[in-house]
Amino acid sequence: MTKYSSKINKIRTFALSLIFIGFIVMYIGLFFRAHPIVVSVFMVLGILFILFSTMVYFWIGMLSTKAVQVVCPGCGKPTKMLGRVDICMHCNEPLTLDSELEGKAFNKAYNRKKLQKK
Ligand SMILES: [Zn+2]
Repeated sequence: MTKYSSKINKIRTFALSLIFIGFIVMYIGLFFRAHPIVVSVFMVLGILFILFSTMVYFWIGMLSTKAVQVVCPGCGKPTKMLGRVDICMHCNEPLTLDSELEGKAFNKAYNRKKLQKK
């Protein structure tokens, strides 16, 4: 069985890993202290990763305002969903806004179909 997670949570994990990559790249740069040019290249790369991560965080903020707040039928907690189908942030219960899809097995392809129609 594939483990799904909420789209917003997925993007958050991605942004967090970018920050870690940024710090790792800068840390690697410290091993080249004898070559200031190499160090600065690593530092700039690390800063770029962290800047990109803040952009991703900003994007999550934008997405969150567009996300629909629903009360999860599984755990009763309020959660946010993106697109026609998403997963509850708290209990990973599949959620849908489309009554046609209600009761059907969760499938990421439903989101793609929506995109194709546009
Ligand atoms: Zn839930």
